[in-house]
Amino acid sequence: MSFKKILLSGARGRMGQAIKSIAEDHQCEISYPVDLGDNPQEFMGDCDVVIDFSLRDATLPLAKVAAEYHKPMVIGTTGHEKQVREEIVTLTQKIPVVWAGNFSTGVNLLFYLTEQASRVLDATSDFDPEVIEMHHRLKKDAPSGTADRLLEILKESRGLDDTNLCHGREGMVGERPRKEIGSHALRGGDVVGEHTVMFAGIGERIELTHRATDRIIFAAGALRASKWVIDKAPGLYSMQDVLGLTS
Ligand code: NAD
Repeated sequence: MSFKKILLSGARGRMGQAIKSIAEDHQCEISYPVDLGDNPQEFMGDCDVVIDFSLRDATLPLAKVAAEYHKPMVIGTTGHEKQVREEIVTLTQKIPVVWAGNFSTGVNLLFYLTEQASRVLDATSDFDPEVIEMHHRLKKDAPSGTADRLLEILKESRGLDDTNLCHGREGMVGERPRKEIGSHALRGGDVVGEHTVMFAGIGERIELTHRATDRIIFAAGALRASKWVIDKAPGLYSMQDVLGLTS
């Protein structure tokens, strides 16, 4: 089997290093590792697929070049502004893109289970959903991309929007509004990533938790996605599409 040639942006970062360390096991070759200061356009013509785990400001310029060269893309970078997200989504009319705030199999199962739980519990509407996440002290954005996706699932399920989100609480905030969805970001130490979706009812509480202990799980997922996306039609795909996890 021939190895897929990957252009990896953010190659010197934590995720970049993790991807490089296991690429060969996944029949992939990091042919073009690029980082801050490099010009990815030089190598774009010769790669099979582009993987981005860099900084939020770097994704859109990279995606524009990938679209120009009709190269499929896997985006793992998080924290993009809404307008930037929309511009990147527009580019998926030209190229296939797997975009996931979290590439681990376990977290994508958590997304699936949250959808299912939400569907059942929203029918009673007596359960208060809260999302809690914790990451290492060096993480720059909050809430995490994964927490954002969990909040989206909860919003969609309840027909709510961003005005119903409450990021942290302080002072005399009053009673919890019925339609509120709470979101809490904890930071410290070397925590790779932990997410809990809590549905708090009267007399009972359900908690769905995922704990990542090694970022190799994200690297493996991104490499799996990069092989999957190569022959796909232009469009926006999720890791749940890659794993065949659809509700
Ligand atoms: P990091 O800070 O260790 O690495 C980021 C790298 O990007 C650095 O080497 C930096 O020099 C480089 N960089 C900065 N600007 C660049 C540019 N313009 N072009 C190319 N490279 C540039 O961060 P990390 O922990 O490796 O995480 C990277 C991103 O991936 C973050 O947004 C993080 O939240 C996200 N992440 C996503 C997942 C997932 O599963 N989707 C998992 C972990 C981390």
